[in-house]
Amino acid sequence: MPWIDGRNRALHGGFAQIFDCKPVVHELFPPATGQIPDTDLNHISDFIVRNFYSIPRIELEQRCLGAGMPGVHASTVFRAAYKSLLDDPWTASNLPVAMRPAVGLDLETILPEPARVLVSRYDRSVKFLFRLEDGSMIESVLMPERRRVTLCVSSQVGCRQACTFCHTGRMGLLRNLDAGEVVGQVVAANRWIAANPGWLEDLNLPSFQRITNIVFMGMGEPLDNVDSVAGAITIMTDPLGLGLALRRISVSTAGHLEGMAKLLAIHPDVRLAISLHSPFEAERSKIMPINRKWPLGDVLRALREAPTQNQHGVLIQYTMIDGVNDSLRHAEELVRVTNGLNVKVNLIPLNEIDPSRFRGPAAAAVESFRDHLHGAGIRVMVRYSKGQDIAAACGQLVTETAWATAR
Ligand code: SF4
Repeated sequence: MPWIDGRNRALHGGFAQIFDCKPVVHELFPPATGQIPDTDLNHISDFIVRNFYSIPRIELEQRCLGAGMPGVHASTVFRAAYKSLLDDPWTASNLPVAMRPAVGLDLETILPEPARVLVSRYDRSVKFLFRLEDGSMIESVLMPERRRVTLCVSSQVGCRQACTFCHTGRMGLLRNLDAGEVVGQVVAANRWIAANPGWLEDLNLPSFQRITNIVFMGMGEPLDNVDSVAGAITIMTDPLGLGLALRRISVSTAGHLEGMAKLLAIHPDVRLAISLHSPFEAERSKIMPINRKWPLGDVLRALREAPTQNQHGVLIQYTMIDGVNDSLRHAEELVRVTNGLNVKVNLIPLNEIDPSRFRGPAAAAVESFRDHLHGAGIRVMVRYSKGQDIAAACGQLVTETAWATAR
């Protein structure tokens, strides 16, 4: 299903293209006779096209009030876009025909286009390779479980943090996503679920109508793009938007202290997850260069001092790499550095991307690491990467597709 139609493509060579031609606007949105005051079109040359999915409901309400319309119309449009998943939310019933020209003439509903969709034969996780308006590629992964279906979203095209074991880190940062491109991944995935009701039929899992949880663990360091991420979370948690509880949204960071402070000031109850990967400062700096700017000790101190985080519990992501960070010595130090913090640890055996450089850990190393944490009273889970058959590791599909294209 083409979610970005030919008309939109013509409009948006990239985002923020300026309308500078009044006759074009007339051609695109022919006015219903007698319903659009002339004044609405007189300043059209000032409009910059924005993605509808980046606009919070409050802004839409203000636009309605400014145009002399009841603010409640904004709720109707929001429900139509996020609950009913309409292609054109302005056509929802009970809305005046003149509403879009009056309050949303500069807004286009732009969703990422699924260039490839891969469904795992084993666990039914779904990997989306999305093409954005400017042709950039990003990934999202849908992960069904017994009580929830989680979407892992991307926040950047590439990433500047250059963690040595990460596919995305090898790309470098190409650009940040805007809030609408983040929200758009969720809307597009919800549409996919609606269009594929038999998706989980032969597994012993409940059928889900909608995504229930979000993790910002896809491409990019979310807190390097904190404004867009915070804006997207506002729309995700709007009861008339995606309607997700804040406790169902986790933002993973490699330890971006500045971004953490900013995000917690806007959404104090959001759940943070720390990609820790080594408890020793020097060793961590080698595999995660961000540690040179914001050492792990400072990050953990900030979490201890953030009352909401210690109260909810902080998720620690620990990718285990053979011979790099999988020894008992690392497990003991992990217990020491997290002392006093309410943590839950996910151990993730490395999904090998370049076996000549990094290998996944031996099963025995994972077991003794897990048992040591468990013995120290830490909640710990071993999580194997979902969708092993569909290249579900972060950045893997984009980089593999780029290689395939280059060959
Ligand atoms: S692990 Fe995360 S922060 Fe590090 S390079 Fe990959 S995407 Fe960026």
